[in-house]
Amino acid sequence: MTSNFHYQNDQLHAENVALQDIAERFGTPSYVYSRAALTDAYMQFADAFKTREALICFAVKSNSNLAILNLFARLGAGFDIVSGGELQRVLAAGGDAGKVVFSGVGKTAAEMHQALEAGILCFNVESEAELERLNQVAGVMRKTAPVSLRVNPDVDAKTHPYISTGLKQNKFGVAYADALRLYRKAAGMPNLRVTGMDCHIGSQLTDASPFVAAAEKILQLVEQLASEGIRLEHLDFGGGLGIRYRDETPPSVADYANALLGALVGRKEKLILEPGRALVGNAGVLLTRVEYLKPGEEKNFAIVDAAMNDLMRPTLYDAYHEVLPVVRDATLASHVYEVVGPVCETGDFLAHEREMAIAQGSLLALMSAGAYGMSMSSNYNSRPRAAEIMVDKGAMHLVRERETVAQIFAGEKLFK
Ligand SMILES: *Cc1c(COP(=O)(O)O)cnc(C)c1O
Repeated sequence: MTSNFHYQNDQLHAENVALQDIAERFGTPSYVYSRAALTDAYMQFADAFKTREALICFAVKSNSNLAILNLFARLGAGFDIVSGGELQRVLAAGGDAGKVVFSGVGKTAAEMHQALEAGILCFNVESEAELERLNQVAGVMRKTAPVSLRVNPDVDAKTHPYISTGLKQNKFGVAYADALRLYRKAAGMPNLRVTGMDCHIGSQLTDASPFVAAAEKILQLVEQLASEGIRLEHLDFGGGLGIRYRDETPPSVADYANALLGALVGRKEKLILEPGRALVGNAGVLLTRVEYLKPGEEKNFAIVDAAMNDLMRPTLYDAYHEVLPVVRDATLASHVYEVVGPVCETGDFLAHEREMAIAQGSLLALMSAGAYGMSMSSNYNSRPRAAEIMVDKGAMHLVRERETVAQIFAGEKLFK
């Protein structure tokens, strides 16, 4: 929890706005973001890397709301995208295509075409077959595609297996042992221009040493390439810096930056980073209301109006989100609850065994929900997606309307 979410007279606030007022005006479930927290997180990165040329590319998949993309664009950010849809979002939000890097293992020819047309900064290519397709698509368009190869440095990020991406067994990137051959091949392809090298070893890392280990392995390849006359303009070390959800102790942005910069002493390449979670995770909460309290023989349930379709991380990764009552009420009795949603799945839980003094109708805030919350949401059980609200000092702005059921099935047709 950042200081932008805090209690004032036993009322949980985002900046100067009481979350209760947001619930009354916009309903629940709703995602609530703090502009100050987003700005502060971005500025920490910008400041930590200001001693050298660096581009902070926000990983759009962590939170793709246009207002958030627009805020980062105004702060000078670039963007790391993984689909043509994300590119359209960045452009619609006023982002600069010239600051976009395009990651992902499955880029289609249509997506490559779209990105070449827009004039992105770099394609982060993940396989030999992708190199060939990109060369072909660029040739037809009479364009030259800027490329970086995502190299798999085979280091253990020591994070959850679902979000660890830098080991040999992962689907991401090209194998370390194959990288030089593929660089030589790319350098010889007529419609490609080799401009960089990238890696991304995983997410929610709470230790800086795997980042340094990956950087050192990448630099060995960079030097080998230079000795063969293939000189790179930029090095992209991906995202992955963790945040505190509970009691994790990730390095500060400054410590993370110093560790990386230490490995880069004497190098002239421009630096690119792709943080997602570290920029938005602690800048958002999911606001939900208790529909029912259901005491049980072994467990008590707090059934809330948000569910796994709104926030999938607990179900998918067994992730922990702190749950805070929006109003601290000393007159209520405290019990231990399972916080669950209305979806018909046993896996539909948001939090286990939380002691809370709450009642039917109480509002709860699931903290640290700004990353991989709304962007992973779905319509399972025909549940319209939540509204999103941006708080800026004392003001609240609706930055995404609550979806309607009619919108959910608008594209469906009956047949005879
Ligand atoms: C998901 C992803 C990121 C962002 O990861 P975080 O852990 O949210 O910082 C960056 N780069 C790539 C290639 C990704 O897939």
